[in-house]
Amino acid sequence: MTIEFNRRLEAIPYYPAADAYGDGRDLVLLASNETPFAPPPAVREAIADRLATLNRYPDPDKSELRRRIAARCGVPSEMIVVGNGSCEILLGAAQALLEPGAEVVFAWPSFSVYPQLAALTGAREIRVPLDSDDRHDLDALAREVTAATRLVLVCNPNNPTGTALPLDAIDELAAALPRHVCLLVDEAYVEFSTLQDPDESLELVRRYPNVVLLRTFSKVYGLCGLRCGYAIGPESFRIACEKVRQPFTVNTLAQAAAAVAIDLQDEVERRVERTAVEREHVVGELRARGLRVADSQANFCWVELGGRDDRAICDELARRGVIVRAGSALGGPGHLRVTFGTRAENDRFLAALDAALAAGGGDRADRPVSRNR
Ligand SMILES: *Cc1c(COP(=O)(O)O)cnc(C)c1O
Repeated sequence: MTIEFNRRLEAIPYYPAADAYGDGRDLVLLASNETPFAPPPAVREAIADRLATLNRYPDPDKSELRRRIAARCGVPSEMIVVGNGSCEILLGAAQALLEPGAEVVFAWPSFSVYPQLAALTGAREIRVPLDSDDRHDLDALAREVTAATRLVLVCNPNNPTGTALPLDAIDELAAALPRHVCLLVDEAYVEFSTLQDPDESLELVRRYPNVVLLRTFSKVYGLCGLRCGYAIGPESFRIACEKVRQPFTVNTLAQAAAAVAIDLQDEVERRVERTAVEREHVVGELRARGLRVADSQANFCWVELGGRDDRAICDELARRGVIVRAGSALGGPGHLRVTFGTRAENDRFLAALDAALAAGGGDRADRPVSRNR
């Protein structure tokens, strides 16, 4: 006999950690859409200042952080919910909104956590394919909405394709949805988009009582090691998430660091500009090699490998010290998702890719197996 688990778990894939963790080699880590920039001094000081208080639980209301986010966004702090990473808010939203008989609608390929939301709650999921440019097909999403729909997820810019839609398209979708449906716009990468200013989306939550914007300190703010994300939406959404979360979520250091980081908008702008330069460089170089790359508005891109096996190419790259994500694990076999790093890291990726392609990587099925999938 072994422990008997909830049958819903069978629908949830288990991904072992990528090889890179705990590896002493000089690796180029381009698999998780992290930023290559270390936390600025003011953020590190805020963390250091709180170390001596760690014998106390964190503020359960996250009041200072919520106040600063609210001030930055120009909304009341009742509309801000903070989570242990924005993924905690996604999982909380699923617990709060979904149940057997309910439906959740999202595009595919999109963020790898979305399929878990239905699997965990016993709700029905409807996946809507991206269009031929790897963008969300919002009309097709809207057509899947029924009386049973509780949650529609739109990832803008989309992970893993990097593609984005203009805000007026999202606004049209919001206007068309019945008000009982929560439209959650996952804006983990919104700062990187040239199609809009992040502040412009706030108009959506002012206009529609059923829209929630999901944001994170993990990407452009570069604090994924601390785990902190937030959502802006109706107070009822915040209260629902607070009901289902664990006690004292979001640790003291994360709250303190994020409260400082949210006001460092000049630093955000610098990072966005540097990332845009690298985006142009990497995408240009990949296209010059004849590879199809989706139009990226994020800090990563989605590369089609021309019929080659993405896992084999990933293994070839890993052997050369470059860690990227195989599309097979993300709903897009035959693709790679590659984060933009520093110029030196990006050029190491491009050189390793040339070597992997020249080695015939991806043409054979008998490659040794790495776990970065
Ligand atoms: C990285 C990412 C997040 C952020 O997750 P955290 O839990 O805040 O680290 C959310 N949504 C998408 C689409 C992402 O790619």
